[in-house]
Amino acid sequence: MAIRSAPAVTDRDLWAQYPFLPGAEALLAEYSPSLAELLTAPVYAPARELGRIRVRAAANDPTGTAALGELDRADPDVRFLSFMYARLLLSVASTSAPARRWSVAEARRAADRLEAVSERQPAEFTGVARRLGFPAEQTAGGYRFSLPDYLRLSAGLREPEFRLVHQRLAHGEVEVSPARAARLLQEGIRLRLSSSTPAELGADVRNRLEASEVDFLRDLAQRVPMPTQRRGVMVLRAEFFPPCIRKMRRMLERGENLSHSGRFALAAFLHRVGADFDTIVDAYRGAPDFDEGISRYQIEHITQRDGGRGYEPPTCETLRSQGLCFRDGDPTAENPADREPDPRCFDPNLVRPTQYYRLKGGAAVER
Ligand code: SF4
Repeated sequence: MAIRSAPAVTDRDLWAQYPFLPGAEALLAEYSPSLAELLTAPVYAPARELGRIRVRAAANDPTGTAALGELDRADPDVRFLSFMYARLLLSVASTSAPARRWSVAEARRAADRLEAVSERQPAEFTGVARRLGFPAEQTAGGYRFSLPDYLRLSAGLREPEFRLVHQRLAHGEVEVSPARAARLLQEGIRLRLSSSTPAELGADVRNRLEASEVDFLRDLAQRVPMPTQRRGVMVLRAEFFPPCIRKMRRMLERGENLSHSGRFALAAFLHRVGADFDTIVDAYRGAPDFDEGISRYQIEHITQRDGGRGYEPPTCETLRSQGLCFRDGDPTAENPADREPDPRCFDPNLVRPTQYYRLKGGAAVER
């Protein structure tokens, strides 16, 4: 079955490159197959397969830096529909972590193109910026954003060069280089994708997808949320985490409230053992009061201290006084091993949870 009709070539290419832009959903309804056809028709098998590839690639490489040859070679219609199918897959995934990785990876990929076209095809750059709701004006040296848009786009960025004090600010506008402008739009795309994925699906679509993609979804659940280590550090070994840290992660995964002291200890620990920034953010995603912006800000504060070494995780004694030590076992744990006392935690020389991790064979811990 062919796609019923197609928009003008320029629009098709634009939606294929930037399928997250407002209006793309309407294109699916107007020009493309019905949802039922997309889910099952043999002619859309390439789009479904490319959708799986996109989701899997994001799960494996949340930074989105690895090339995705299948995507680059795909016909614009297949590219566009694969994005839609990927969103459907993420909407039935068992946790929101794959969707978060997908937002980051897809935004990065789109920003690479935006940076490439920022000088030779400024109309494409400004068109995407305007559709995203962050209009930018080309200048001799780059692009100008309004101050409120700049502040919104840069709020989640950790790179010091985006701090307002380092910017050229005039008449309520901020001028940045093409590369920084692309980085700002990357953040705008990430915000848009995070707020629109997962999509709301009817029970029928959900059931059909879960049934037809059972193997893919199982595989995805195994890949994510595996903790991801920062580049350049030793392999992160979640199985070496001490009972207190395992308990804190379980609490958040179950949507239980974790005290501020527990949240601080968890972030400081994960950073010291080498978890990447987004893995630490992911750990808090299940908290009942989770707020992406606040979490990113607080985790950045904890991890960027002392030139990036981060705060020292609390001692075992402190954690015990806060009711956060679980060396005697956690009677509520599903895993029988977590219900038992852990002999390593009774070693009189054990001072901190990071020391436990190192004693079990983990690396990248300084003390
Ligand atoms: S003894 Fe230390 S490492 Fe072990 S559970 Fe308690 S706080 Fe964690």
